[in-house]
Amino acid sequence: MKNIPNQIAIDGTAASGKTTVGKIVAKNLDYLFFDTGIMYRVAAYGADQKLHDVSDEAKVNEVVEMMDIALQNDTENGVTNVLLDGQNITDRLHLPEVDRIVSTVAAYPAVRTALTKQQRKIGLQGRVVMVGRDIGTVVMPDAEMKIYLEASPETRAKRRYLENLSNNIESETYEMILADIIKRDKNDRERAVAPLKPADDAVIIHTDDYSADEVAQKIFELMD
Ligand code: C5P
Repeated sequence: MKNIPNQIAIDGTAASGKTTVGKIVAKNLDYLFFDTGIMYRVAAYGADQKLHDVSDEAKVNEVVEMMDIALQNDTENGVTNVLLDGQNITDRLHLPEVDRIVSTVAAYPAVRTALTKQQRKIGLQGRVVMVGRDIGTVVMPDAEMKIYLEASPETRAKRRYLENLSNNIESETYEMILADIIKRDKNDRERAVAPLKPADDAVIIHTDDYSADEVAQKIFELMD
């Protein structure tokens, strides 16, 4: 009989496979999958749309506070749509423009406080796989299972490049993606509030040589 954790936290660097692996784990357990990165992406996208620049922290905080964000499950297509002030922006959230600004917005303490509060509420419902940067350390510090995924920047850039191609995003070269990943990791690791790091009790999995299914398998083995 497996000992199934009620809350599973998966953290890791940019494009380390958190979303793909987290979705597999959640589907197998019939748990909710919740990607906290999406929330920071909505905040960054929305602020940039309104202000055309995200460097003024006070203004960004104000805009984020006023945002009306709704998640809508499209069960037919197996996706969660994100509505910002009533407009479906799901397909904009992973554009390179958002990749470039999201870690700036995510470093603003007031933005983190607002989003962390909502994430904790979802975590408390249990039967959840939550992925991000600070889930095991800040959002769900009591999670029974904490995983931290790591891979070399080159492996991650290659994966993201191929993923972009399959989503018809062709504007970014491998080199551009690699540079963005390195910069984003640095911003995420060095910020003052809730920096990217493994929780003391996290299991660190290096994913360079494994497929997402194999990583998910390793996670299931940890539950035996
Ligand atoms: O996971 P994803 O790459 O979509 O996350 C986008 C960005 O959102 C990260 O680079 C990071 O700056 C921010 N983020 C965060 N804390 C989380 C999830 C994401 O700061 N829990």
